Amino acid sequence: MALDFPLSQLVQKIQNSDLNPTALVNLVYDQIEKFDQELNVYRSLVPREISLKRAEQISQKVSNGERVGKLAGLPVAIKNNLSIADPSLTTGCSSKILEGYHSPYDATVVEALKEEDALVIGTTNMDEFAMGSSNENSAFGPTLNPWNPSRVPGGSSGGSAVAVATGMAVAALGSDTGGSVRQPASFCGITGFKPTYGALSRYGLVAYGSSLDQVGCLTRTAEDSAYLFEAIQAVDTKDSTSLANKLESYEEQIDLSSLKFCLPNEYLDSKIVSADVLEATTYLADWLAQQGATVEKKYLGFLECLIPAYYVISFAEASSNLGRFDGIRYGLRRGSGSLDELYKTTRESGFGTEVKRRIMLGTFVLSAGYYDAYYGKANQIRAFIEKKIHSLLTEFDFLIGPVSPGVPFKFGEKKDDPLSMYLEDVYSVLANFTRCPAISIPAGMSKEELPIGFQLMSKPMEDYRLLKVSEAIQAKTDFHTRRPPQWPF
Ligand code: GLN
Repeated sequence: MALDFPLSQLVQKIQNSDLNPTALVNLVYDQIEKFDQELNVYRSLVPREISLKRAEQISQKVSNGERVGKLAGLPVAIKNNLSIADPSLTTGCSSKILEGYHSPYDATVVEALKEEDALVIGTTNMDEFAMGSSNENSAFGPTLNPWNPSRVPGGSSGGSAVAVATGMAVAALGSDTGGSVRQPASFCGITGFKPTYGALSRYGLVAYGSSLDQVGCLTRTAEDSAYLFEAIQAVDTKDSTSLANKLESYEEQIDLSSLKFCLPNEYLDSKIVSADVLEATTYLADWLAQQGATVEKKYLGFLECLIPAYYVISFAEASSNLGRFDGIRYGLRRGSGSLDELYKTTRESGFGTEVKRRIMLGTFVLSAGYYDAYYGKANQIRAFIEKKIHSLLTEFDFLIGPVSPGVPFKFGEKKDDPLSMYLEDVYSVLANFTRCPAISIPAGMSKEELPIGFQLMSKPMEDYRLLKVSEAIQAKTDFHTRRPPQWPF
């Protein structure tokens, strides 16, 4: 079955005319036809005939002996917050305020996908403006978890994760501000990679928390993430926070026995982490030790500061970033009286509850008189943590632990309790806070047959090394080979 091959092999087969990209497109669209309606994955989709035409053009190029790109013919999905200029695709951020919005231009990462001949087939459902951990904040209903449709797929890139887990795309892009690529990947049994801050351009990614946002890859394996990342990673002068240099790939062989892993004691605290996740985490940590690696436990000493500081900073940045949705420039417009009335009515009817909550709290923490006490303080905490982590990661190669404290939870379980929802991110925001690359790889199933993820994080700029180690783990384990029932076996 074509869908089971690594991305690099799929492209190779297409380049050698061993696989017609139209066959791959048909496989993926068959999956979409069967399961999209039930699972609510895509916000907008390129019609099959158009994707088939585009695939046909690639196959023509191949038969003419022309050069094709590194992602030639791969049906890829992107999150609904990445700008794409395509008449069939919207960049709506799963929000009513941007419902039906068509971008006039491509995000740099989308441009890179197209330059490498990927077929961008659709934009995926998400928590509104990437705010959430369950997809329940989408204004268009949540995406369902393919392993158990009564459970959330994680968020905010839940649609992208489910697309990859069920073969409705061979790979997808998401965005990760505090865990939104890694947590849905872990909830859906796939691999989710958040690169170093600035490694993938943010130009054309609808901003949530600009100092934390990073585009990331959702794929079945670390090998696929590395392949996709390498194809689209570039310096971008349109993004002032883009890294100054292209990252160098890591060619050396990875010898797990030469590596030092830090497993923070707080990550094993049974008051925070569920028994299933704890068991999967210690299993993989012990497995690494059995491979000869050094695994040391250590107290970080700041875990309880992370969530409060993250939510102050991300809310503050969100309140400022979302100021642009005013009924004048983009999307929805409501109200017919004064300009003030138009602003109010548009924003009142266009934004959902969680987005409004964040805009209000973010505006509060930035207001005169409170700025130093909240936003200023949170940034001091962030700087302190960043320094500590960067020094810890000179002593250790990688930090390891769970991705989130529990397994995919039931719809409605946390929706009305924002604080418990925010605690979902207790292990994931650290990477965004410190600009470090981090990855979630499958680590087995819970007793209720729900996927569990395992997280690895390394120093900034060591993305390829992080991916190589994850590949080395996946080469010797088989957690990443499990597929949900929708998979076309
Ligand atoms: N769950 C986190 C939040 O709601 C992270 C979201 C994200 O990474 N985009 O802010």
